[in-house]
Amino acid sequence: MSDSGATAALPDPAAVSLAIADLDRLISTLRDDGRVVIGPTTRDSVMTLDEIAGAGQLPRGWLDEQSPGKYRATPSETATAFAHGPPSMSWKRFLHEERTLVISTSRTNGAMVIDPAPAAPEKPLAFFGIQACDLAAIGVLDVALADDAAYRRRRDDLLVVAASCTDSVATCFCVSAGTGPRPGPLADIVLTELADGSLIADARTERGAAVLTRAGLDTAATEADCRSAAALVDAAAARQTRHLDTEAIARAAAAPDDVGWDAVAERCLTCGNCTMVCPTCFCTSISDQTRLDDGCAERWQIWASCFSLDFAYVHGGSVRTSPTSRYRQWYLHKLVTWHDQFDSSGCVGCGRCITWCPTGIDITEAITS
Ligand code: SF4
Ligand code: SF4
Repeated sequence: MSDSGATAALPDPAAVSLAIADLDRLISTLRDDGRVVIGPTTRDSVMTLDEIAGAGQLPRGWLDEQSPGKYRATPSETATAFAHGPPSMSWKRFLHEERTLVISTSRTNGAMVIDPAPAAPEKPLAFFGIQACDLAAIGVLDVALADDAAYRRRRDDLLVVAASCTDSVATCFCVSAGTGPRPGPLADIVLTELADGSLIADARTERGAAVLTRAGLDTAATEADCRSAAALVDAAAARQTRHLDTEAIARAAAAPDDVGWDAVAERCLTCGNCTMVCPTCFCTSISDQTRLDDGCAERWQIWASCFSLDFAYVHGGSVRTSPTSRYRQWYLHKLVTWHDQFDSSGCVGCGRCITWCPTGIDITEAITS
């Protein structure tokens, strides 16, 4: 087993071959282990993520087109289940939920009692078919949310079956971000799909190998199939046309006041879509809610966006009142100050913020024109 698939040209020599039907055995094995299996699926003609019970729920035969401000998924004749772009939502919501109860208060004999939120018993998760950019995003969240107990609990139990990308949509730029299209070292198993829907499975950890063994998947992959798989992933990388302009980012880091932020910000609706779909945006705020019927109250941690006025509210008002100041904050945090704070970029090149921005603002071009 290799530790890293990020640079390997071929799957590991010990890789095994899977027929399409074998995916059900793999998913069943994970479920028999008591795991909730999360994978890509289609809902209302959009690729999304949800719990899956079998391979029939994967988006086999679906392809998607993504471009600035545009998304379209359509059924096709393809035999593949993983040749799609990043699903509409990111995997972070299963590790870092939109709403988390922090504490609640109740009344006992007229006295207020503060109850810490009970740690709900949860089944361990398996991420099935996560792509390289989103896997890298988990590595980013691992640092940013290292002290978040709920995140750590789910993350520590997580088993990852990643999928190499054998196609790229127009908004992908994982190559330039250095995160894909081959899944990096956080995967337990890496699947690479061939054009006929059959797959190569490459165990990257002991527990990944144990899952394949328990599923009875031990047919050695042929060298020809491994070469075909590697060629498909290389072709997906070669199809990417977007890239991060590192020189423009360096100029913005050195002289942020010289950037023409107004030009991009005048198109920004400050809707926050980009932060909600981003696999690495992790900010939250606190909301207190009181029930009028029994006087009990709850304190919730909820996702927040740096594009909202409230996010930058300090005593006396918001410190970022203009869209320009909020766009600038988001961009510079993602691509510049994240390095100082967490020793990495905050962008993994998934392109979701480009696709789901209603005005098609493109992070790879925002400050280059
Ligand atoms: S900033 Fe945009 S491209 Fe980068 S990780 Fe977030 S959503 Fe993906
Ligand atoms: S950049 Fe686009 S998605 Fe993000 S807040 Fe502005 S309009 Fe919304």
